[in-house]
Amino acid sequence: MTRTSRIHNFGAGPAVLPQSVVEEVASALPNLMESGIGLCEISHRSETFQRVVDSAMERVRRLLTIPEDYTVLFLQGGASLQFYMSALNLLKPGEQADYLITGGWSQKALKEAQRVGDAQSRWDDFSNGFKAVPQQGEYTIRDGAVYLHYTSNNTLYGTQYQRHPDSGGKPRVLDASSDIAGVPLDVSAHDLIYAGAQKNLGPSGVTLVILSPWALSRVGNDLPTMLDYNVHASKGSLFNTPNTFGIFVLDCVFKWLEDNGGLAGSIERNQAKASLLYDELDSSEFWKPHASKDSRSVMNITWRLHNKELESVFLHEAENAGLGGLKGHRSVGGIRASMYNGCPIESVEALVAFMQEFRVRHT
Ligand SMILES: *Cc1c(COP(=O)(O)O)cnc(C)c1O
Repeated sequence: MTRTSRIHNFGAGPAVLPQSVVEEVASALPNLMESGIGLCEISHRSETFQRVVDSAMERVRRLLTIPEDYTVLFLQGGASLQFYMSALNLLKPGEQADYLITGGWSQKALKEAQRVGDAQSRWDDFSNGFKAVPQQGEYTIRDGAVYLHYTSNNTLYGTQYQRHPDSGGKPRVLDASSDIAGVPLDVSAHDLIYAGAQKNLGPSGVTLVILSPWALSRVGNDLPTMLDYNVHASKGSLFNTPNTFGIFVLDCVFKWLEDNGGLAGSIERNQAKASLLYDELDSSEFWKPHASKDSRSVMNITWRLHNKELESVFLHEAENAGLGGLKGHRSVGGIRASMYNGCPIESVEALVAFMQEFRVRHT
């Protein structure tokens, strides 16, 4: 189907960006900040681009209230590289690290950490279909654990921690790829946070990494250069050519977030969007929401219908109505609406109106 206008995009990532950001990026393509050089053509060593990096760093520090002595990096390789890189930098061979397994991403993070040290799952919801995240007291942390790793939001299953999990006094390492800057986050209660940008912050190909002084102090001396946090930190994320395009888009999104009420505004909008959809899902047995109520995500909402045929009809009719990206992850099936920071409430209103009409017609 060819389209002349933008759909309501519920894709799980890369995800929809605010319209004004898309337009700002488009206008920078031929000429970035009146430098006479296009956004994808400018040197990362230029003064103009340095202004972009500095601005993005300052904005994200303000937006997330990042403590002054923490380091911010814009790296490449996605969150998937951080699965390994975080463990490689924080653990010495044989040392222990504890993981909470709440879905496919934390499984992958654990697997990579096991290449480095004694990384262990301390809680795993696999047998329950990953419907929930652990509650206080449902797991223990080993005395010797160097850190606790968790995934704050689980895109595949639509679950999310409602508060930072107890780490028994150990440093927290967080994969915040799918809810960064969209839910409350106490950065100072963590020692390492990483997030691929393509869901809540910008395009793919750039990863936000936030490190405490403790995290940097753990880094060994003989790591492969590109996998060494200290190398990137000492060069202000410009050790090698970074994703210049991605960092510019990040700066635009951070500015958009600041102009729209900062983190508090973002949290409020995301809660309002999620409430609209959960209200519809809870209104009738017609829908079968996946996540346990105490673990529901505001970013990815997943549900099923009574049978697969009806799910296919739903997806097909939604697509025709200009509602896209709703097919559940291939490992889970069903329906998934991803509603990250860039998703406007109008899109959710359109989805809920479609669902109400669909429910009445098929009941
Ligand atoms: C999407 C996602 C990833 C994968 O990120 P890549 O940038 O593709 O490596 C990892 N963790 C979480 C929580 C995600 O949502």
